[in-house]
Amino acid sequence: MGIGSLNEAVEDRVSSLWRLTTVALVLVCLGYAALLLNIRSWDIGGATILWPSNGLLLGVLLCSRRRQWAAYLAVGFAVDLGLNLSLSFAPGISIYLAGCNMLEVGIAAALTYRTISPNPDLTQRRQLLRLLAYGVVLAPAIASVLAQLSISSLHALPRFIAARHWFVADALGIAVMTPLYLSFRERERFPGRSRLEVTGLLMLLLATTVGVFWQTRFPLLFLLLPVLLLLGARLRLAGSALGLLIVSIVGGYLTIRGRGPIALVHAGSPLTGDLLLQFFVAVSMLVLYVVEVVISERERLQVNLKASETLFRLLAEASNDVIVLSDLAGARRYVSPAVFTVLGWEPEELIGRTHHQIVHADDIVAVEAMMRACREGEPVEPLIYRCAGKDGRYVWMEASLRLYHDETTWEPIGFVNVVRDVTARKAAEEELNRAFRLVENLAMADGLTGVANRRRFEEKMDLEWRRAMRDGSLISVLMIDVDHFKPYNDLYGHVMGDSCLRQIAMAAQEVIHRSSDLFARYGGEEFVAVLPNTGSSGAQLVAEQIRRTVELLGLPHSGSPSGVVTVSIGCATKMLGHDSAATMLVDAADQALYQAKSAGRNRVEVAAASTIPG
Ligand code: GH3
Ligand code: MG
Ligand code: MG
Repeated sequence: MGIGSLNEAVEDRVSSLWRLTTVALVLVCLGYAALLLNIRSWDIGGATILWPSNGLLLGVLLCSRRRQWAAYLAVGFAVDLGLNLSLSFAPGISIYLAGCNMLEVGIAAALTYRTISPNPDLTQRRQLLRLLAYGVVLAPAIASVLAQLSISSLHALPRFIAARHWFVADALGIAVMTPLYLSFRERERFPGRSRLEVTGLLMLLLATTVGVFWQTRFPLLFLLLPVLLLLGARLRLAGSALGLLIVSIVGGYLTIRGRGPIALVHAGSPLTGDLLLQFFVAVSMLVLYVVEVVISERERLQVNLKASETLFRLLAEASNDVIVLSDLAGARRYVSPAVFTVLGWEPEELIGRTHHQIVHADDIVAVEAMMRACREGEPVEPLIYRCAGKDGRYVWMEASLRLYHDETTWEPIGFVNVVRDVTARKAAEEELNRAFRLVENLAMADGLTGVANRRRFEEKMDLEWRRAMRDGSLISVLMIDVDHFKPYNDLYGHVMGDSCLRQIAMAAQEVIHRSSDLFARYGGEEFVAVLPNTGSSGAQLVAEQIRRTVELLGLPHSGSPSGVVTVSIGCATKMLGHDSAATMLVDAADQALYQAKSAGRNRVEVAAASTIPG
């Protein structure tokens, strides 16, 4: 064992010895004070008015560790034994009575320790009820029954009355002294009260008590209750217990001396008078303690409410999202300060108004639909809409709307809306969409000529084919092939060939001007055009225009009989029935193209309707 821990152990011993001595001294003083009060009462055949020592010892036990109990109980036993012997009781009876007292304290401590001990606070309903049930009622009841066996022989009183003496005096002693001890151990005995107020109130009670009990002409006992209540309201539990102690001692002392309203009320034996006083103290005590518990519970509730309100306000106000509470009609009740950062409005400028104030006219229908769905209990997806900032500029916001309900009736009473500025996200989304469209267009465009590619043609064909089948409308396809292009490449080279293809594509694209039409490169020097809602004559007209346009380009081609670059075109048109395959129209146009080639090139041929299957 090191010097440090040795020192600590010694200090521990010394301090617990010191505590034991203090407790012993206080018990001796209290015991003698009680004897002074009670002996006179006994002398004139009265009851024990108040036995405070057990209540104090119980308080000490509740504030110490269980393993220290034996030492405290031994000290209590010794003091009690001394007192009994000083009253010239027989040693056997003295030991027995001291044992009963310690048994009472032990039972009360054992039954209340778990509830009260870690944080003694008798303003908590549970702790107070437990103290009253076990400490004030049960333990004194058991001890009094055991003790009466010897007391009755002492005072020559009937057994029941002897037990009652013990019970009432000890019960009151515990009810007054234990709360007093526990509250006096706290650093702040009378929280928030000045010394002047405390002294003033105690003096007021003392003066009233003396006044009430000194004179014997008027039954003024009722005057004490308001003063006690005032003491309880201002000085709380410690004040109540102290007040009751003052009333018990002063009242008891004067009553025994035949003074005061109790002596006035009854003309019988002193016993009844003492009992009346005890009854008064007990009733006052119940009133004071109940008031104390009610006030404390109310205070704790308020503290909790304030704490949770502070917490929620903190959360709402620290959030970058705007939190809006509104009633079911949409009138705002609360708007969190983040709205200033997001929209430039002060919350006060928005409270009491509805969504019409700032929501973009085009978005009001969607917002109202969301509110309606939410009111009807349907699941609501976050909605993105525009809100006007104070400077008139619109900001994209995303709202998550929820209903909130009355805590007791669970009736919906309004909306909680968490609104977030999504302008940046919206801009990023648009940028992404633009990039996506660009990529998509690139993927759908032919690299050489810039017109639509084969893939785009096939998608378009598929789409228009299904539409034509559904509507029973006409659809035409043109297959376009450059004449004698192989020799062109041979004569002018591939670079010139490519340039030639580009010029043909551009010229042909010009001719196709309806927005539903599509001109695409089919592959090599072949092009294709899809003309939805176009009959055979219309298709033929477009084909002829393309042929002429290319011819009029006048691109020199010494390998071609006409001396310029020309194209041959095959047309096919079909009124579609069900189950037709899209490829058959392309095949038919290809057949017609073959005919145009065979017939001498630089011409348009139309596939006969009868040759097209489907
Ligand atoms: P026809 O009048 O019967 O159509 O004769 P043609 O020479 O055009 O016949 P063919 O279809 O056999 O020849 C196509 C030629 O087109 C083959 C190839 O040299 C050329 N060609 C195909 N794709 C390209 C291309 O992208 N660039 C260039 N420069 N030439 C191409
Ligand atoms: Mg070809
Ligand atoms: Mg060709």
